Amino acid sequence: MLKILFFLCLYIASYKGNNVQVTVKELNGSQYINLEPISQLLGSKINYLEKSGRIFWQKGNLTIILTDGSPWVLLNGKPYNFPLPAKKQEDEVFLHSSMLIPLLKSGFNLVAEQGDNGIIIFDQKVEIKNVVIDAGHGGRDPGAVGPKKTKEKDIVLKIARIVASELKKAGINCILTRDKDEFISLEKRTKIANQNGANLFVSIHLNACRSRKTHGCEVYFLSRARTDWERAVEARENSVIKFEERELGADLESILWDLAQTEYLSESKELAGYILKSITKKENIKSIGVKQANFFVLRGTYMPAVLIEAEFLSNPQCEKKLRKEWFIRNIALGIVEGIKKFKTGYEKQMNYE
Ligand SMILES: [Zn+2]
Repeated sequence: MLKILFFLCLYIASYKGNNVQVTVKELNGSQYINLEPISQLLGSKINYLEKSGRIFWQKGNLTIILTDGSPWVLLNGKPYNFPLPAKKQEDEVFLHSSMLIPLLKSGFNLVAEQGDNGIIIFDQKVEIKNVVIDAGHGGRDPGAVGPKKTKEKDIVLKIARIVASELKKAGINCILTRDKDEFISLEKRTKIANQNGANLFVSIHLNACRSRKTHGCEVYFLSRARTDWERAVEARENSVIKFEERELGADLESILWDLAQTEYLSESKELAGYILKSITKKENIKSIGVKQANFFVLRGTYMPAVLIEAEFLSNPQCEKKLRKEWFIRNIALGIVEGIKKFKTGYEKQMNYE
């Protein structure tokens, strides 16, 4: 009997190893939780506007507006309707967990678990779960063509398939933008990535240039091309636009796309570094470096994104190797290793481990 009483009195909220005691009140037959100590625990602030009965719950850019006696909530200006109202009693706000838990999730990106004697709040784990593997070109667009007529579109599809099956083996969900020889617009490739909630976008290509001696691997992330070399690769990979039926989107749209990528610039650069390192190590391919260019296919992806130029198809020796299964496989395994290394580091950093 004593034990039950103890639990009823002591309701604890915990977050990142800190605990606060929280009052729980029964209002209209439902258990309501005092918001003030939880707000303090999260480093947020609560202000009351006496006249309107409005309650402002704020942290950084986040503003949640509650109204005493109303189930309506404004979360950064967006209205939500809950099954039970917010309650103000004396100078304190009480919320039912059916309102509190979703607000923690949508507003603060926090996960809350409620038990009989308390509530535990966690940071939402950042996890790289879905990776889009984009085999460049396809269908009427062959990409680069080697001296022996080997087509870029065929080799990169083989590499992409191996990458996808190896990632799946490692427990990473993988989406291929194409799994056969078909034409897919650049716009559709990024759409596939964004609509599938992908966390990474990796586009696989083969290089080509006039000199038949040039060989090596380079990995690009999206930014403005700085050198003539970068501009040449950018122009070649972007030239697929000529195969597309529609004009590129309006200027405004491309500005928005660019903004979407700048957010992930440093992550994309880091991913490019990992992939370059593991490909060149695996198959003793010369490293030409991490480069930057403004590839259309990388624009508009709301996630870290890179474009790999694995080897030169214009070099006869490289072309010969690119026709061998073992060589293609090693390139694919290099890409997989790079993705896995990036995933481990990124998740650690994002989850403050
Ligand atoms: Zn290409």
